[in-house]
This record gives sequence, C-alpha cells and structure tokens, in this order.
Amino acid sequence: MNKNTENSRMPVYFIGHGNPMNAVERNVWSEALINLRHSFPSPKAILVISAHWYVPGTFVTVQESPPTLHDFGGFPDELNTFDYPAPGDPKLAARVVYLLGEPASLSNEWGLDHGTWSILTHLFPKANVPVVQLSVDNMLETLDMVALGEALQPLRDEGILIIASGNITHNLRDAFVRMNTGDTATPDWATKFDASIANAIENRDKAFLCAALVDELGEVNHPFPDHYLPLLYAFGSSDKDDAVEFPITGFDMGSLSMRCVRWG
Ligand code: ZN
Repeated sequence: MNKNTENSRMPVYFIGHGNPMNAVERNVWSEALINLRHSFPSPKAILVISAHWYVPGTFVTVQESPPTLHDFGGFPDELNTFDYPAPGDPKLAARVVYLLGEPASLSNEWGLDHGTWSILTHLFPKANVPVVQLSVDNMLETLDMVALGEALQPLRDEGILIIASGNITHNLRDAFVRMNTGDTATPDWATKFDASIANAIENRDKAFLCAALVDELGEVNHPFPDHYLPLLYAFGSSDKDDAVEFPITGFDMGSLSMRCVRWG
C-alpha cells in the first residue's frame, strides 16, 4: 500500500475541463493532466464537484456503479459512447451527506458526467479508484457554497481527493465563435478576470471570490455561473496553511481559462 494513503492530508484541486474533446484527444490540455498523475498521494476515493451537475439541491451520488453520463450534444460517437467504469462508494456518499448536514441527500438520479470523466480519464486512466459526485446547489448563496466546502475538509485526512471541475472563465458562446472562425486570440476580459481570480485565490480573499460574478466583467466571463461555482467549494475545502499552486494555466478555444488550482 502506498504509505501516503493513510497518513498525509490530501490536496484539493480545481481543474478546468474545457472542450469535452479533451477527454479523447492527446493535446496540450490532456498532456497537462497526465503530467499531474503522480503529483498527489494515491487516494482511497475521489469526490468530484462538477459544473455539469448544477441543480436545485445538494445531492451525492450513491450508486455502487455510477453510470457514465453523456450530458452534451453535437459531439462524435467516440465521445457519445465513452465509458468511465469507476466504482462508486456508497460509504463515502453517506459520509459526505453526514458532513454536509441538512441540505444534503443521497441520489440515484445522476452518475459521472463529462465534467468528471473528461478529467479523471487522464488522472486515473484505469478507472479503479471509487468516485462520488456532489452537485453544485443553485439554491445556495456563494458564501454557503464555501461553507459546504469547509464542511468537507475532514475528508482530506481520510484519504479522499477532492476535485472541483469547471472553468475560471467560461463564455461558451464566445469560445465556439472563436473556434469556428479560427480566431483563438484570448480577449482582454478573459485574461483580466482569470488573473483577478488567481490573485484572490493566492490572497485567500473569500469576499472577492464570492462576489466575482456580480459585476460586468463577471457577467461577460460567466453568462451562466455553473462553471465558476465549483471553485467556491474547492476554496472552502482548502485552508490558510495550504500552499497554493497553479500547475496548469492558459486558455482553451481562446477564452476558456484552463487554470488549475492546487491547495496543499
Ligand atoms: Zn463544462
């Protein structure tokens, strides 16, 4: 057994997933995730907070064998038939519900969405580490999302790897226009927002992170908030003693920030 599994405090990650095709293509983004493989201790299980399970409620997947969800349209068969057969972990799911308390409940209604498997296929290609997903609760205020992240902190001492999956900038309409026209220059509004969030993460500026979407710059970067909010859960699961690193930076499709944050 990896000696790190039992004893060390697990890091927390926020990972940018970008274009779903990154799951099946070998490119700069998939290579960057592959390079992360050996940068953390072997986890007993993984808890993923995915932008693609953005629903009115705090739910935790409880299946023994969570299905691979193909929650997108317009992509090739290679993606539509993709399977990530990682086991679930009902005990971990129950533990997560216990830690989160009143707003949380177990769910059979979801599985592993592409926000999860497009990342995990590169980090854990054998799909042999159990995976549980936690929804992003769209009924909550941003501060409450940080608080749920804080409630998850004990898992880090129990061998559980917490990964939040989204993108720090995510104006999908802009990104597709850039991809379709070949204009993959990164706009100033994306560079500026991405840098301001990186700065707030480094300074543990919770107030800034929680209010980042309310002004004009926030709105252009996130016409819809789902890809930003997983960051707040991950931030909550970190603490002031964690070292902060950005092992991946840059933009996919011109304007989607692929910045990865590691705490601890
Ligand atoms: Zn996405």
